[in-house]
Amino acid sequence: MEQLDRKPDVGMSGPLFVAVGVDGVYARTGLFEQVVESLSTCISQRREPGTEVLRFPPVMSRAQLERSGYHHNFPHLLGCVSCLEGDEATLRTLANRPDWPEHLSASGLVLAPAACYPSYPLAAARGFVPPEGLRFDVASYCFRHEATHELGRLQSFQMREFVCIGKPETVLAFRKRWIVKGQELANLLGLNHRLVPASDPFFGRAGRLAALSQLEQALKFEMLIPVRSEEDPTACMSFNYHLDHFSTVWDLKSEGGEPIHSGCVAFGIDRLALALFSTHGMEPASWPRTVREALALSACSPISPHS
Ligand code: AMP
Ligand code: ZN
Repeated sequence: MEQLDRKPDVGMSGPLFVAVGVDGVYARTGLFEQVVESLSTCISQRREPGTEVLRFPPVMSRAQLERSGYHHNFPHLLGCVSCLEGDEATLRTLANRPDWPEHLSASGLVLAPAACYPSYPLAAARGFVPPEGLRFDVASYCFRHEATHELGRLQSFQMREFVCIGKPETVLAFRKRWIVKGQELANLLGLNHRLVPASDPFFGRAGRLAALSQLEQALKFEMLIPVRSEEDPTACMSFNYHLDHFSTVWDLKSEGGEPIHSGCVAFGIDRLALALFSTHGMEPASWPRTVREALALSACSPISPHS
């Protein structure tokens, strides 16, 4: 693999991202979006038959996220949509106050912290989970109130996921297949990668126990790919087994009463795109032929910042 220090341009503000005044929130340039779109197509091409495609908005039901327990497990990451309420006179008075944000009240919406959360209540609303299970292809912009904002750690980022709901063996087989497909995709894209056991950033002391238990039960694996440096690669994909967490929360059942589990595979689209630039350089037109072919970039001419 080429040395990353050859590509100092893969930064927060430059040819890929444009600063918009808040750390971890960026406008994407045409150059970056071209690769994002190609990556998304490349992932779509690997979608398994019988997978329902759904695109979610960047907000979701607060009640649904609360029921999933997210605000207990990850209160430090959660973002809620708050609004000013009242009649015209009240709103005018509030808007004129310098402390107007203190008068906001939580609405029924939160910012989606991961793309898959709305899938489970949606599946539950359809009745029994069929014997072959359910599979969804979902995506949304996600928000996480991250404590730091180094390259690749965004507050607002694009997540693509495949979700499986079904018998434990169905979900485990799904995750196993996607671990292989994920590695094949990284190979095809010429990305140096390593699969490691991982845990979610659960909150607080109790959270550390939850994270340990997740590791012990091998519930989460991450694919690390160099973005900032070779020595400290970044999680660009995750392969998750939720056991019966979501099926219990949403009362997901099979007709025959067999246990129902769930799992998901998540692609951090922005991080994968950054990894491509970091690995192959700032000009997609000069990326290795195999990578351009995989991304169907071969016919693309170099894109200028203003094209
Ligand atoms: P997770 O649900 O934490 O496994 O996240 C799924 C994927 O989303 C990760 O593998 C990352 O690629 C991506 N991701 C998570 N957090 C961030 C972030 N703060 N900025 C950019 N991408 C992220
Ligand atoms: Zn998920």
